[in-house]
Amino acid sequence: MPLTFVTVPCLKDNYAFLLHNDETDETALIDAPEAGPIKAELDKRGWHLTDVLLTHHHWDHVDGLDGLRGDARVIGAKSDASRLPPLDLEVSEGDEITVCGEPVEILDVSGHTLGHIAFVMRGAGYAFTADSLMAMGCGRLFEGTPAQMWDSLLKLRALPPQTVVCSGHEYTTNNMAFALSLEPDNAKLISRKSQIDAARDKGVPTVPSTLAVEMETNPFLRADDPALKQAIGLPDADPVDVFAEVRKRKDNF
Ligand code: ZN
Ligand code: FE
Repeated sequence: MPLTFVTVPCLKDNYAFLLHNDETDETALIDAPEAGPIKAELDKRGWHLTDVLLTHHHWDHVDGLDGLRGDARVIGAKSDASRLPPLDLEVSEGDEITVCGEPVEILDVSGHTLGHIAFVMRGAGYAFTADSLMAMGCGRLFEGTPAQMWDSLLKLRALPPQTVVCSGHEYTTNNMAFALSLEPDNAKLISRKSQIDAARDKGVPTVPSTLAVEMETNPFLRADDPALKQAIGLPDADPVDVFAEVRKRKDNF
C-alpha cells in the first residue's frame, strides 16, 4: 500500500504523525498537539485531512484539533469520550477500523491515563502509542496502576518486532540517561545512546523507533528481564513489582 508517513514536531517536545494514501489521497493525522505546524505540513503537500485519530485526552494531544478538523472524521476512545473533543467514531479494544485504506486495530493501553488507546496498523507496520510506550520510556502513571501499564506494554510488546513505534514525545535523551543509571555497563544501551546523541546533535527526532530496539533497550519493556531485575536489586520479584520500582525511580530521576 502506497502510504507516505510524516513526523511533525509540535509544541516544545510533542510529535504528531501524518499518513497519506497516495492512491486514494486520504490523509490521517494521529494526535493534534497544535494546529500550526500540522496545517503547514498539510498545505505544503497539498493534503486534505480525512481522519484524525486521538490517543488520549491530554491537552498536548488534542488542543490543535479545532483548527484542523474541518470535515475530517475524528476517532477516539469510547471509554474516554466524555473527556475527549467531540468524536465522530468511538472505538474500543478489539474494534477494527479502516484508515487511509489500511486496517487499524485498537488496543487499550491504559496506565498514563485511563482510556488511553493505541492505533496499530499491522499491515503497514505502524503502532501509534503516544504516551504509553515511548522511545526508551513510558508515560507517567497519572491515572492507572503499575499492573495496568505493564499489561498495556505487554500488549504492545507482542506486536511484530519490526513494528515502527510512533510515540508522542521527544524524551529519549533523558530516558536514556535514566536507563543508564540503572545499567551503566549495558552495551546495548551504550550503543543506542551514541545513536540518540548523534541524532539530537543534528536536531533529528529519535521518534519513531522500532519495537525490536525498544524490546532490547527500553527498561519499561524489560521488567521480566533477569539482567534488569538483578541491576535494580530485585532478582526474584514479580515483573509488575519490577515495573513499579523502575517507574518510581524514573519519577524521582
Ligand atoms: Zn499525555
Ligand atoms: Fe503527552
